[in-house]
Amino acid sequence: MPVSMLDQTHFPLACNHMEVLGRLEGKKEWICEDCGKRTDLEVEPFKAQLAKELDAVHKIDLQAKAKGGMITRL
Ligand SMILES: [Zn+2]
Repeated sequence: MPVSMLDQTHFPLACNHMEVLGRLEGKKEWICEDCGKRTDLEVEPFKAQLAKELDAVHKIDLQAKAKGGMITRL
């Protein structure tokens, strides 16, 4: 089964480390697990970028489901 794009897409944090997009969904902030730096997901450019990325992967997941595929979340 294909894995959700939420778990395959990575989002660049304020410290330039990457985090899996699905883990950031619904979060107001994220503490980097690599360096401990906090990224405020409610300020720009992160807010708009996160919304854009989430919107894009949700569309891809919906397309996969529409083709009859199951989506697995990790
Ligand atoms: Zn970091």
